[in-house]
Amino acid sequence: MALKKFFYTLMLSTLATSATVESTAEEFKYTDEKFADIQMLRYKVQDFDKLNLRQKTLIFYLSEAALYGRDILFDQNGAYNLRIRKMLETVYTDYRGSRDSKDFKALTEYLKRVWFSNGIHHHYGSEKFIPGFSQDFFRNALKSVDRKKLPLTNGQTVDKLCDEIFPVIFDPTVFPMRVNQKDGDDLIRTSGENYYGTNISQAEVENFYADMRKPNDERPVMYGLNSKLVKENGKLVEKKWTTTGLYGPAISKIVSNLRNALPFAESKEQKAVINKLIDFYVSGELKDFDDYSILWVKNTADLVDFTNGFIEVYGDPLRFKGSCEGFANFKDLETTARTEKLSQNAQWFEDHSPVDPRFRKEECKGISAKVITAAILAGDLYPSTAIGINLPNSNWIRKEYGSKSVTIGNLTDAYNKAAHGNGFDEEFIYDADTRALIRQYGDNCDDLHTDLHECLGHGSGKMLPGVSDDSLKAYGSTIEEARADLFALYYLADDKLVELGLTPNTEAYKSEYYTYILNGLMTQLVRIKPGNNIEEAHMRNRALIAHWAYEHGKNKNVIELFKKNKKTYMRINDYRELRTLFAQLLAEIQRVKSTGDYEGARQLVENYGVKVDPVLHKELLQRYAKLNISPYKGFINPVYTAVKDSKGNIKDVKISYTETYDHQMLRYSTDYAPLPYIND
Ligand code: ZN
Repeated sequence: MALKKFFYTLMLSTLATSATVESTAEEFKYTDEKFADIQMLRYKVQDFDKLNLRQKTLIFYLSEAALYGRDILFDQNGAYNLRIRKMLETVYTDYRGSRDSKDFKALTEYLKRVWFSNGIHHHYGSEKFIPGFSQDFFRNALKSVDRKKLPLTNGQTVDKLCDEIFPVIFDPTVFPMRVNQKDGDDLIRTSGENYYGTNISQAEVENFYADMRKPNDERPVMYGLNSKLVKENGKLVEKKWTTTGLYGPAISKIVSNLRNALPFAESKEQKAVINKLIDFYVSGELKDFDDYSILWVKNTADLVDFTNGFIEVYGDPLRFKGSCEGFANFKDLETTARTEKLSQNAQWFEDHSPVDPRFRKEECKGISAKVITAAILAGDLYPSTAIGINLPNSNWIRKEYGSKSVTIGNLTDAYNKAAHGNGFDEEFIYDADTRALIRQYGDNCDDLHTDLHECLGHGSGKMLPGVSDDSLKAYGSTIEEARADLFALYYLADDKLVELGLTPNTEAYKSEYYTYILNGLMTQLVRIKPGNNIEEAHMRNRALIAHWAYEHGKNKNVIELFKKNKKTYMRINDYRELRTLFAQLLAEIQRVKSTGDYEGARQLVENYGVKVDPVLHKELLQRYAKLNISPYKGFINPVYTAVKDSKGNIKDVKISYTETYDHQMLRYSTDYAPLPYIND
């Protein structure tokens, strides 16, 4: 499952950390291109230059394999998408009329949205977006360009092409939704995706796959995952996506690049993974895909890793069909070193934790949080992407072999950087000194907070004998997140971190304390609609910690809320005392958890973590709206270039970050587009 975290308005855990001074890479430039509800970003492939040639070459071929899946996804998302994209692109590049006209600008925006969504429906909401240009404009523009560049089928005229395609683009009643989930509708007949042929009902699909399942099969393959279901002569048949089947030209390209990657695999285990995936693409057998997934989940030792295949099923209203997805990555070396330091000292942290010794673990093992660096995003992970991935999706494989769970560090970093300079800090942080502190230490301490939370926080402490894991019921996850956060907050200010070289000095932690409290007391509320309470567990936990510390520090004025020019601001007057408060709350939360004190949990969460002050909320929403921050974000990929010697062997792989969004999309549409315009 992809942890699809669309950054609606803000980051997840941090809001307002500020940029560290831009580093040395001259070539790397962030982008701030915006259109519709979207902002494009870049991600930096940190440490790519530190990889050896073998690893770089492996990534190069895995990237190529991933990019060849793009047109499969366009076609999966809608039967007309490839033709519509080609019509739009041709006008975009070849139109001789005014490029400043309202119609042309609207066409440009529409095309950028089509690229972003891999089709004509919104990538997240799945509703069809309607163009802002006229049909007459588009028809005349299409007639003005070289007809050889248009997706005309069987000697079609341009007018005939327009007549066929325009309702799909302009008529709001034609394919209004890509994935319709409305209870009571026939979800297959009312969804615009292209996983099912025409004239097929939901009941027919359900029966078709119910019949396939074997009784008492404890290890079922994922039926239907890699095919389009169509009706031929009144009978349902699967058209499999294989090198010789549907999407054959694209899958053959994927396979040839996987074959190119084979000699550069880092281990024989990894080679076996790639070989099994090739088998699957050739045979179309879902058993091969399961075997591949098992080999893949067991292969954890290598630095480079990848995902490739028909993976996520959210694009099918009935959740059978896998969308094409490709991803190449490698372990984040710096973070791995950091988390190893924490893990090695796990027992020290446990022994010094400010909780009742009865609740401490005698023997404590840290967990290595796996953070990876994305090298390429493709298919259903591009340009809109997940920041965490947990695969494979097969339930029985997860149960018997486990899953790989990773967070993608350089994407999180890019989201953070995008938040800097968007005006957020200036709006919500009153004094310049605090802003400077956050600019200097914010990112570093925030990463460290995440590491402490994941590697040590969740793993710390123990239950008293006889207390069951789920005794806190609905409050359990909020309490658990609060426990891990408090463990991290408490230790961020500890001299031990300076000693371990994880924080630069004894002041840096203040940046995280400030942003954490600001978020919990105020700014996270901008993600909540007026009149609603806080529901989500992580948000409840942050509100709980911030409000509890605010209330319990009142007598010493530890945290202060004040108004200037009718705006509410927050100030921390005593950081050391705030740490003491975190220690007290950690001890209490650990007691609640270890003893299974349901009533204690309920009181903490309901009193501090749920309610929203409507007056403050309204003020924050108004201030936030003025910042004009795009609700959705996506990424431009870096460009990899293989430098070859006279014999054709790769002697280096260069990476660059200068390609613009439209150039990248046009290049992909030219260089990675082996499919015909109509696939059936
Ligand atoms: Zn957590």
